Amino acid sequence: MQTNFTPEQLKDSATAVSEQILRKCVHCGFCTATCPTFALLGDELDSPRGRIYLIKEMLENDRPADAKTVKHIDRCLSCLSCMTTCPSGVNYMHLVDHARIHIERTYKRPLQDRLLRSVLQAILPKPGRFRLAIAAAFYGRPFAGS
Ligand code: SF4
Ligand code: SF4
Repeated sequence: MQTNFTPEQLKDSATAVSEQILRKCVHCGFCTATCPTFALLGDELDSPRGRIYLIKEMLENDRPADAKTVKHIDRCLSCLSCMTTCPSGVNYMHLVDHARIHIERTYKRPLQDRLLRSVLQAILPKPGRFRLAIAAAFYGRPFAGS
């Protein structure tokens, strides 16, 4: 894939690595066959190849993440199944990690999204809190609306 990063952009080491990875992609689409989100949704932008385009556009133009890019990057499960079928050895893991860092730096998520993420951040890494949350969900279930 042809890239158009400026020398100034390439001074950033993460961008320089991403540029080398992007250049390896030959658009063949073999990766789409093993991507669960593409299999489920059938949208090119929910495939590894589509996400690679979105990441390239965002990084190359040095622009803040937009809602469309965030939606499709958020849907990526980071299962890295796509890397197992790429004949060019594209390191998708670095690209999606780089994109997520860029998103966190440049995109303000809606309030509901931020609240949910804060709650998950507070609960998931703590086994005690996680057990409490599971118990609360279990006992609260009868009171939930249908
Ligand atoms: S990491 Fe998984 S979900 Fe994400 S693009 Fe690759 S195969 Fe699809
Ligand atoms: S399989 Fe590899 S080279 Fe082909 S489109 Fe996917 S990431 Fe690019």
